[in-house]
Amino acid sequence: MADIQDLRERIATACRVLGRLELTRAALGHVSARVPGTDRILIRARGPGEVGVRYTTEDQVIEVDLDGALVSGDPGLAAPQEVFIHTEVYRARPDVQSVVHIHPPKVVLFTICCKPLLPLYGAFNPGSAGFACEGVPTYERSILINSPALGRDLVAAMGDSPVCLMRGHGITTMGGSIEEACISAIHLNELAEMNYDAHLLGGAQPISEEDQKVLEPIMKPRTRFDGSDGSVSGMTLTLWRYYKRLTDS
Ligand SMILES: [Zn+2]
Repeated sequence: MADIQDLRERIATACRVLGRLELTRAALGHVSARVPGTDRILIRARGPGEVGVRYTTEDQVIEVDLDGALVSGDPGLAAPQEVFIHTEVYRARPDVQSVVHIHPPKVVLFTICCKPLLPLYGAFNPGSAGFACEGVPTYERSILINSPALGRDLVAAMGDSPVCLMRGHGITTMGGSIEEACISAIHLNELAEMNYDAHLLGGAQPISEEDQKVLEPIMKPRTRFDGSDGSVSGMTLTLWRYYKRLTDS
């Protein structure tokens, strides 16, 4: 029970951080976590009285099964229509402990304009640059993922990547912890912001292949998460302390 309460609070914090960073607007977006050792998840809910991702509180996080049905939480709340993004990732990827789905405008612009996210920097933010070096998959449809079948389509498009663009829609990221899934979303957004600004300035050039190779060991490989038990690594925790602080009143 204590674990579930801890996860509820961390999901609510994650929502507030992503909202504070303007990575998603109003009510659109959700963070979830697997309840360890079960086939249930905790997810930010939708319902009357909601005031947006940025102001999520732990009582707005509900427990659902892998069909999206309410298990525990306020009966006036319901799982988001796109709960199947989350449930189908958890079914397909036992290593995933948390999933984030949000609509960051700058990232979505790249899917609208069919422009790739280029590896324009290295040591500036290796965690973020790694996504561009490895390539970020795109789910080509722009519809709501509101059925298990569509959730499976999205999972297939992701392959083994921890991040995925969704054309004209948003992004989905995942991790071995709530914080890791959020940091990946923040990294992906930074990649898009820098690509956007570089295109505005003109003359954007990827870093050399030689430097991409040198940086590889500190660019986390796409198939490795912090911990399969929901634990958080030192670097993720360091970054997270900063982002969490942004939401402290
Ligand atoms: Zn969505």
